[in-house]
Amino acid sequence: MKLLSVASELFPLVKTGGLADVAGALPIALVEEGIEVRSLIPGYPAVMAALRDAETVHHDPSLFGGPARLLATQVGALSLFVLDAPHLYDRSGLYAGPAGDWADNPFRFAALSRVAAQIGQGMLTHGTMAWRPDVIHAHDWQAGLTAAYLHFDGGPRPGTVFTIHNLAFQGQVPAELLPALGLPHRALDMHGVEHYGAIGFLKAGIWASDRVTTVSPSYAEEIRTEAGGMGLDGLLRSLGGRLTGILNGIDTTVWNPATDPRLPARFNADDPTARAINKARLQARLGLATDPATPLFGVISRLSWQKGMDLLQAALPLLLKGGGQLAILGAGDAAIQADITAASRQYPGRVGAILGYDEDVAHLIQGGADALVVPSRFEPCGLTQLCALRYGAVPLVSRVGGLQDSVIDANEAALAAGVATGLQFAPVTASTLEQAITRALALWARPDAWQTIQRNGMTGDHGWNRPARRYARLYKEIA
Ligand code: ADP
Repeated sequence: MKLLSVASELFPLVKTGGLADVAGALPIALVEEGIEVRSLIPGYPAVMAALRDAETVHHDPSLFGGPARLLATQVGALSLFVLDAPHLYDRSGLYAGPAGDWADNPFRFAALSRVAAQIGQGMLTHGTMAWRPDVIHAHDWQAGLTAAYLHFDGGPRPGTVFTIHNLAFQGQVPAELLPALGLPHRALDMHGVEHYGAIGFLKAGIWASDRVTTVSPSYAEEIRTEAGGMGLDGLLRSLGGRLTGILNGIDTTVWNPATDPRLPARFNADDPTARAINKARLQARLGLATDPATPLFGVISRLSWQKGMDLLQAALPLLLKGGGQLAILGAGDAAIQADITAASRQYPGRVGAILGYDEDVAHLIQGGADALVVPSRFEPCGLTQLCALRYGAVPLVSRVGGLQDSVIDANEAALAAGVATGLQFAPVTASTLEQAITRALALWARPDAWQTIQRNGMTGDHGWNRPARRYARLYKEIA
C-alpha cells in the first residue's frame, strides 16, 4: 500500500510542536507495517537547506501566484515530497513573521493541500516517478483542504484520513476567498467548507475525509462535547464511529535515555542512578541550588493559556514551601514569559527558567528532573509526559485528553497494585494541582514508592509500533 502523509511541520527539519514529532516518526514506524510512505511538506528555508540530490518530479508555472516545483528526495529514513514555491515559503517563520501571522497563510496552506490532492489524483503517474497513493493522511488545518479538493473535483480519488492534533487551531479564513482558493461556489455550505460564515480549513478536513482521528481516545470523546468541541462538536458527534482516537507514541531512538547524546549522563530503567549527574547539571544550568535531596519539578512547554502555567504559578508557593525546586523551559506568550521571569527573580536558587526553544535543555530536564508538571487545561495527546515516563521524570498531569490516557495515577489502589506511573489531578484548578503537588512531595519522602512509580513509567511501551499498527488497519479499511 502507498500512503501520502501531508503536514506543515516535520521533525527533524521544521518543528513548532507535537505535530512535527508525529509527522516525522509515524511514517518510519509505518514502514514496519509494509506501507510505502511519502511525506509532503512545504519547502521552507530549513527544509530546502537540508536537501541533497532532490529530483524535480513536477513543475507548475503558477501555483497561487507564482511558479512551484515538486521535489522528491530522501532525508534519513524519510521519503519526502517537498513543495518548493519560493513566493509562499521562502521566508523565516513558519506561520508568522515579525508583524504576526502571514497574511497569505490561506494560500500557503491551500497550496500544500492542492498539491496533495493532485498527487492523489495521479499527477505523478505519467512522469519518471509513477507514484500514486492509495490513501492520503492529512494532518491539522494546514492540510485540511486536501480532502475538500478531492471531493469537489470529483473523479477517482484515494481514501482520506484526517488527524486533528489540536482543535484550537482551526484555520478560519474569509468566505470571499472561496474562488481564489479554487473551490466551487457550492463548497460554501454547511455540507462543505463553510464554518460559522467563514471557510474553515479544519472543518473542511473533518467534513470531507473518510475517517477522522485524533491523538488520544479521551480527546476523541472530549471534542464531541459542547465544552470541548470548540464549535465543531456537532459535526464531530455526527461522525459516530468514523472518529477515533489513537494515542501518539514518541520516537524512541531520539528519546532513549540509554543512548541520548544530549544527556551529560546516560541511564536505563535497571539503573537510573546516573540521573543524579543530570540533575546536578540541570540545577547548575538554571541557577538552582545543587542539592540532590531537593525534589526538582520540571516544565517543558509552549507558553499559552492551554498549558495552564498560571495554575502552576498559583501553586508555586506551596511547591516551594514543601521544599521543591522548579525548572522551566518554555516559549510563547509574552505575558506568561514575564510572569516566569518575575518568579525566577523572586525565588532565586529555587525557580530557574530558560525562555526559548532549546532541544538540549528539554532533554536535560527529562533526564534530570524528578517530576515533570503538565497542568494543561486541555491536551489532545501531549508528548512531554510520554518522554518523561521514558526518562524517569515522574509526570504530574491534569486528567484531560492524552494525559489521562498515558499516566496512571498513584492513588492508594494503584500503588498497592504496583501499576502507578505518575500523578493526575482533576478538575483542572490551582487547588487540585496543589493537592497533587502535596501528594508528590509525600511520595518523594518514600524513596521505595517513588522509585517503583519511576520504574513503572520507564519500562512502559511508549513507542510508535502499537499506534502504527492501528493506523495501518485504518488505512486498509479505506484504501
Ligand atoms: P504541543 O504540540 O501542544 O506544543 P506536545 O506536548 O504535544 O505539545 O509537544 C511538544 C513538543 O515540543 C515536545 O516534543 C516538547 O519536548 C517540545 N517542546 C515544547 N516546548 C519546548 C521548548 N521550549 N524547547 C524545546 N522543546 C520544546
